[in-house]
Amino acid sequence: MAYIEPAPIKDKENPFESMMSRFQIASQALGLDDEVYNVLKSPAKQVQVSLPVTMDDSSIQVFEGFRVIHSNILGPSKGGVRYDMSVHMDEVKALAAWMTWKCAVVDIPFGGAKGGIKCNPRQMSAGEIERLTRAYTFAMAEIFGPDRDIPAPDMGTGPREMAWLMDAYSRIQGMTVNSVVTGKPLVLGGSLGRAEATGRGVMVAALAAMEKLKINPYQASIAVQGFGNVGSYASLLLEERGCRVVAVSDLSGAYYNKNGIPVEEAIKYRDKNNGHLEGFEMAEKISGEDIITLKVDVLVPAATEDVITTKNADKINVRLIVEGANGPTSANADPIINDKGIMVAPDILANAGGVTVSYFEWVQNRLGYKWSAERVNRRSDRIMKDAFDRVYKASLEYKVSMRIAAYIVAIDKVSKTYKFRGGF
Ligand code: NAD
Repeated sequence: MAYIEPAPIKDKENPFESMMSRFQIASQALGLDDEVYNVLKSPAKQVQVSLPVTMDDSSIQVFEGFRVIHSNILGPSKGGVRYDMSVHMDEVKALAAWMTWKCAVVDIPFGGAKGGIKCNPRQMSAGEIERLTRAYTFAMAEIFGPDRDIPAPDMGTGPREMAWLMDAYSRIQGMTVNSVVTGKPLVLGGSLGRAEATGRGVMVAALAAMEKLKINPYQASIAVQGFGNVGSYASLLLEERGCRVVAVSDLSGAYYNKNGIPVEEAIKYRDKNNGHLEGFEMAEKISGEDIITLKVDVLVPAATEDVITTKNADKINVRLIVEGANGPTSANADPIINDKGIMVAPDILANAGGVTVSYFEWVQNRLGYKWSAERVNRRSDRIMKDAFDRVYKASLEYKVSMRIAAYIVAIDKVSKTYKFRGGF
């Protein structure tokens, strides 16, 4: 594909190391004792399975499948299933821990988990992916369960795979159990409002942070990196709230218009143009990397991890960063951003709108009832705003950045719960 630019600059760190270093800083600030620290550092359960699958040419291929439950202290564990060739146990462990903190920050009664299969879904037929998904579900039948561990989509999976997973699990149980998985198609018990949930949460976090910084949304300029699910909904909803989205970007490059990008037009263009913005004429094309260093009020990285690093952090020219993506800022870049006085609404807070509405999907399935989009949005907005306020308060109380404050809120919640529950 000719329009793809080189990958962004990367630090040596990986997102797991970044997460662990913040976990350590927050644990120290909180005065967490070593015993609890050791409990929270180690995943509760790690499962690896071999999945023999008959391919379309009748050959049998064996795939590796993983599921890690980092913590089930707050409740059944929750986390996506990733289909990608890069999937390996260490990565799955890291992503599972991330889910624990994210659920705890927004105060939903879930622990953290993650799963994956090492495969390349783009080179597999729908039938092969279906058989692989059913084999994975069968192998994890003892792990999954509405009260044990609830998977969801992640990279390389979506509602289609979640429907197969739900069906396979239900067949094993001998009854329909739609609450075993979230991110399902609407007709199978998916929730209204799920598609826009993460972008919507980013909007709520951005507005709450702007209020603290006394930035008037009607005068705010915004740049959004990534124009997929999270970036495009965040752009649209921020524009609806009066903000001027002056730049958006995707793998094809970045698009700038100082008067504001008409976001709905950009979304329509993307949808007709194979999912990318190449050739979008209502903005000037600039280099993809330049979006990070544009002079705007608010930057929303909503593409991928490790895009703000020690190599570009000192050139960032904004007052607020709202992290739609997971792990967009490396830990080594944190002090540079803090020294510049930039507020960061961190990933585990700002993009938790998605897992919040997944929780609502599970609640609705268990109630055997369906909420209106309006109810879903109202409740998720409240959860996001409350979470923002808790994190902001902790940042003042402990005199730390919003990022460390988010970890403090999460670790405090999980460690207190652990102490009440006790161990062996
Ligand atoms: P997506 O695949 O729908 O969109 C990704 C977008 O980013 C695309 O426009 C792609 O072209 C662009 N992109 C990828 N690499 C880029 C790069 N190097 N530079 C510029 N643009 C690039 O993905 P998504 O669901 O919107 O997820 C985006 C991020 O948000 C990921 O980090 C994901 O883990 C995180 N996230 C997503 C959700 C969710 O509900 N979808 C929830 C929480 C976190």
